Amino acid sequence: MDQEIFDLINQEKQRQTNGIELIASENYVSEDVLNAVGSILTNKYAEGYPGKRYYGGCEVVDEIENIAIERAKELFNAEYVNVQPHSGSQANTAVFHACMNPGDKILGFDLSHGGHLTHGSPVNFSGKLYKTSFYGVEKETGLLDYNKIEKIAEEEQPQMIIAGASAYSREIDYKRFREIADKVGALLLADIAHPAGLIAKGILQDAVPHAHICTTTTHKTLRGPRGGLIIMGKDFENPFGQKLKSGKLKKMSTLLNSAVFPGNQGGPLMHVIAGKAVAFAEALTDEFLHYTVQTRQNAKAMAAAFVEKGYQIISGGTDNHSMLIDLRNKGITGKQAEEALGEIDVTVNKNMVPFDTESPFVTSGIRIGTPAITTRGLNEDDMKWIVKVIDECLMNMEDEDKLAALKSQVMEKMSGYPMFKM
Ligand code: PLP
Repeated sequence: MDQEIFDLINQEKQRQTNGIELIASENYVSEDVLNAVGSILTNKYAEGYPGKRYYGGCEVVDEIENIAIERAKELFNAEYVNVQPHSGSQANTAVFHACMNPGDKILGFDLSHGGHLTHGSPVNFSGKLYKTSFYGVEKETGLLDYNKIEKIAEEEQPQMIIAGASAYSREIDYKRFREIADKVGALLLADIAHPAGLIAKGILQDAVPHAHICTTTTHKTLRGPRGGLIIMGKDFENPFGQKLKSGKLKKMSTLLNSAVFPGNQGGPLMHVIAGKAVAFAEALTDEFLHYTVQTRQNAKAMAAAFVEKGYQIISGGTDNHSMLIDLRNKGITGKQAEEALGEIDVTVNKNMVPFDTESPFVTSGIRIGTPAITTRGLNEDDMKWIVKVIDECLMNMEDEDKLAALKSQVMEKMSGYPMFKM
């Protein structure tokens, strides 16, 4: 046994067990998901798709991938899904690759206002291969202004508009986004990586009926293994796509499948696809509906408790599982807050706030989410307690004794909430 690595895995398990996990993009998978991902399926090569593989011995993994596909279709009420993307970024890469040519123009949510790297950041393939334009939130409200987005779209004439974010706590109006996309003849990609679990259960407005294509990660509010997924409510002929010999446009599903494999990836991770299948079945249950409702209630309770203590939440609150806190009125940077909270085993991530004056390595804010602590079983009263602990920590960052006391309170609290329900 590799003692060195397994000791470290154990150490990480202790960290995850003892601490309060508030990173909005993280969650705790079930033991079944974990067992699927840690299974012998990792040994199997299966380039291609079920029934059309480039390797022998794929009969079993074909069944697994087909089940994953059918469950994801049911979950999202979709005509098409691709379960092979290794991550959310890979899913987005495949969509760009399928729908556009290098040099085409995209319109995305500005990274510094809450968007994701893959929505056109200059350090990412999306900003290097495509011409970019951006929309952001309003300074006064922290909200998207759809009339402004429409104006930008009309000026920029993008081939694709991307709706979706990594740090936006409000509902996204996908119907309005589609109207804008239709007006300028663009494709609409909804990247629902963050709220996918809540969308799947009808807790937030659905993107699938409105966007041409949706992408998501499977490991955030969906509570599955680390991975990506592409979804289409209805298949269609890509207006910018390659043509068949007959002159007809290729179906988007054909273009997407070949953009994932062989366009961007090699062999699919069959152990992860099995984990996705397990997670999709879990997400189809009523228990998961209760989980998503509680996740949102916890976020609302937490945001309200922060506001009560004088913290500034961007947009003033939350509709989903997350919130972005501007710490400037408290005289603390995001980096300082992340580090101080780390001392007491409360994990958050520093995050740029819209119109931030600090660098991305320092930032003026922190992003907080409730998916992981809700999985552990915490409720609204616990959220108030967590906010009290966070506030005491941030107001006493130099007081070693205080931090040590808070750390043991955190550990004692979380010992009552096991990572796996027996
Ligand atoms: N899209 C959005 C909106 C995200 O927030 C993220 C991850 O945080 C991704 C895509 C990329 O996912 P991954 O980290 O799996 O590549």
